[in-house]
Formats: sequence, structure tokens, C-alpha cells
Amino acid sequence: MTDQLPPTTAPTPLPAARGLMGRCPRCGEGKMFDGFLTLRPSCSTCGLDYSFADAGDGPAVFVILIGGAIVVFAALMTEVVYQPPFWLHAALWLPLILVVTLLPLRMVKGLLIALQYHHKAAPGQLVMYKDSPKGEA
Ligand SMILES: [Zn+2]
Repeated sequence: MTDQLPPTTAPTPLPAARGLMGRCPRCGEGKMFDGFLTLRPSCSTCGLDYSFADAGDGPAVFVILIGGAIVVFAALMTEVVYQPPFWLHAALWLPLILVVTLLPLRMVKGLLIALQYHHKAAPGQLVMYKDSPKGEA
């Protein structure tokens, strides 16, 4: 019966979409970043503390692997089909490397932090039980 109740609020974008847009994963209104990749201490709208957020090297790894595959595939295909001089390779692929790495980096970092918030991902912690001898978990 409870699943037939009408929703009390308008549907909001998924946390992943909020993260891709650089918005707070909880409210979707406040900005997540203060600068290009620097995370704000908290959401300016709902006050969500971003201290839980630790994307680590994840955004760089995804961007390097996907962007690298795109550039290498394009360079190989261009070499096989047209055999251009090396200066043309440099003129083509160096700007493309900047585009495919810098543009999506902020979006991927926002996405990973939003998914971390959504799935409540956190480092593992030991739980001590009262009855266990020597505090074994
Ligand atoms: Zn917020």
C-alpha cells in the first residue's frame, strides 16, 4: 500500500547527473567545486559536509584510460590511412590530448564523488564487540 502513495516532492535528477553537473549530490543546488578541481568544504545550499569525499586518483585514471584510447586509436588510424609527417601528428594530437583529458576531468571527479555519497562509500572500520575476548571483531 505504501508504494502507491503519490510522491511528496518533484523528481530530482539522479546523484550521478548532479555530480556530472558539479552540483551537490544531496540537494542538487549548491556547487561542489571551488575552482577547477578544488572541492568546497561544504554545500552552500544544504550544508552537506564534503569531508567524506575522496575520489583519489579515480578521475585521472578514468580520463587517462579513456582519453588515451581515443587519441591512440585516432593517431594509429591517421597514420595507417594518410601517413602524414610527424609535425602534423604533433599538431593534431597534442591539442586533442588536452581536450580529452582536461574537459572531462571535473565532470568525472564530480560523478565519482556523487556516487560515493549515493552509495555511502567509506573506508572500512573495525567494529569492537563487548562480549568478544580481547576486543576481537
Ligand atoms: Zn547541497
